[in-house]
Amino acid sequence: MSSNASCIFCKIIKGEIPSLKLIETKLSYSFLDIQPTAEGHILVIPKYHGAKLHNIPDEHLSDILPVMKKLTRALKLDQNNTPDGEGYNILQNNGRIAHQVVDHVHFHLIPKRNDEEGLGVGWPAQPTDFEKLGKLHEQLKKELETAAENEKL
Ligand code: AMP
Ligand code: ZN
Repeated sequence: MSSNASCIFCKIIKGEIPSLKLIETKLSYSFLDIQPTAEGHILVIPKYHGAKLHNIPDEHLSDILPVMKKLTRALKLDQNNTPDGEGYNILQNNGRIAHQVVDHVHFHLIPKRNDEEGLGVGWPAQPTDFEKLGKLHEQLKKELETAAENEKL
């Protein structure tokens, strides 16, 4: 397991600093955020030190969403199966520009009950440009094909 002695979340996993722990599995750990944006704001982290999503092994990542799902039940966020009313956001920031403060991957589970609390999202959508999208699509498919070929080698 990758760990970093100066990382605050690695210290939480090891119990070196306190946390309000919720679910712990072999591969992940969850606890209340101490500066919540809404009541029930929870963090789920891999038990593997890495700053960004691409640094974390797949098996750790696979463990996280089922933990999130259990936590939505504990918070009774699973009661509303309609589009309206109470909801929640799952957020995972990578890099300072993307609002990441702690450099150990963490997934936020943030209840969204009203406009004042929880996540506020800026969403600068651009007009649809199919020519531009088509070029990007071709480029990305090539990248993915090359990656798949390299994996076979
Ligand atoms: P981010 O901006 O995505 O890096 O979020 C970091 C989050 O970690 C913030 O929501 C903080 O409130 C939270 N946080 C920082 N230190 C602790 C801690 N010791 N225990 C619980 N949550 C923490
Ligand atoms: Zn760490």
